Amino acid sequence: MKLLRNCSQLVTCNNEDQTPKTGDSLKRLEMIEHGALVFEGETIKWVGNESDVATQFADARFEEVINANGMLVTPGLVDPHTHPVFAATREDEFYMRNAGKSYMEIAEAGGGIRNSARRLRQANEEVLFQNGIRFLNRMLRSGTTTAEAKSGYGLSTESEVKSLEVIQRLNGAHPIDLVPTFLGAHEFPDEYRSDREGYVRLLIDEMIPLVAKRKLAKYCDIFTEAGVFDIEQSRRIMSAAKQHGFELKFHADELKSVGGAELAAELGAVSADHLVYASDEGIARMAKAKTIAVFLPSTTFFLGHRDYAPARKMIAAGVPVALATDFNPGSSCNTSLQATMTIAAIYLKMTAEELLNAVTFNSACAIGMQKQVGSLQSGKLADFVLWDAENYKQLPYFFAQNPVTSVYKRGQRVV
Ligand SMILES: [Zn+2]
Repeated sequence: MKLLRNCSQLVTCNNEDQTPKTGDSLKRLEMIEHGALVFEGETIKWVGNESDVATQFADARFEEVINANGMLVTPGLVDPHTHPVFAATREDEFYMRNAGKSYMEIAEAGGGIRNSARRLRQANEEVLFQNGIRFLNRMLRSGTTTAEAKSGYGLSTESEVKSLEVIQRLNGAHPIDLVPTFLGAHEFPDEYRSDREGYVRLLIDEMIPLVAKRKLAKYCDIFTEAGVFDIEQSRRIMSAAKQHGFELKFHADELKSVGGAELAAELGAVSADHLVYASDEGIARMAKAKTIAVFLPSTTFFLGHRDYAPARKMIAAGVPVALATDFNPGSSCNTSLQATMTIAAIYLKMTAEELLNAVTFNSACAIGMQKQVGSLQSGKLADFVLWDAENYKQLPYFFAQNPVTSVYKRGQRVV
């Protein structure tokens, strides 16, 4: 057994009933001042006040005592929306946007996701794997210990499978636990621009059944957006995915209000993500269906857009909310949930307590991992982060600096 002690605040993000936090439980941050934590192997055995350790573990001899030096400790962060498998970065598009071209103009001229697809199809698996390791290392150093990972830069059966196999290999090779998502419906590839129905059929008849049969992904996701997959195409593709046993996620209402939030609720999706232009009707339906809203404010920030997701309205409506980086080479080249929290504090007007719940317990719920991670509770994985911060309010406040001092994943020190 090992003991973690001398924490100024041990933020547990505890939630007894294992359902996503809304209302008062979202506003409240569960923590223990002068807390301590005991773990054995990869599992948490006990969490409580340091003053109780002596009586609780009177006869125990700890093989290691970790001194947090009076600093803040939180659960390992959970990033529920990332695109870490790509062949090449796209910094040129960043400067094109800043010079006045819009995201959609670049996409329609063959850039954006299709640019990444052309590069990924030519890349061998080893390049994709090494790129993945490089960026997962950055995530881990920023305190992320569990993440969702999407395919979606292949846009052909062969290259989507290749991407999902790389995610599987990364999951085995890297300390971060990855939850795989199939995102073949990310864009229409070059060869189907004038035969969109042909690509929808390829997704429904070939890719979805194959990915399901080979158990390469837990979730199926789609870019439901004006100019990409419309509502009817989205309904057909995602209904097929559901029939094949996938749980559903949506890129919804990012650039225009197209009814993505409504469709996500209608099909019982676990989450709808982005939601910058979610309608009032969509918000009400998501609240009723308990569809989690995953906000990606670093994308809005990185695209230089003015409008952010209506987080306050959604929280008030009772929608469960989470935060993610949307790490990808185009619209959000950000690996740090801490940076995302800062942007969400400023532009989504979320409180420190909401922000912490949104990158831990609620984000674990958004990828179905809340029984294993997302809070520091007996029986869960010993995933935690020691921060050079005196209290949790300093995390979103320390801007563009990384106060992580150590990261423990499954009971092992990995940073
Ligand atoms: Zn995304």
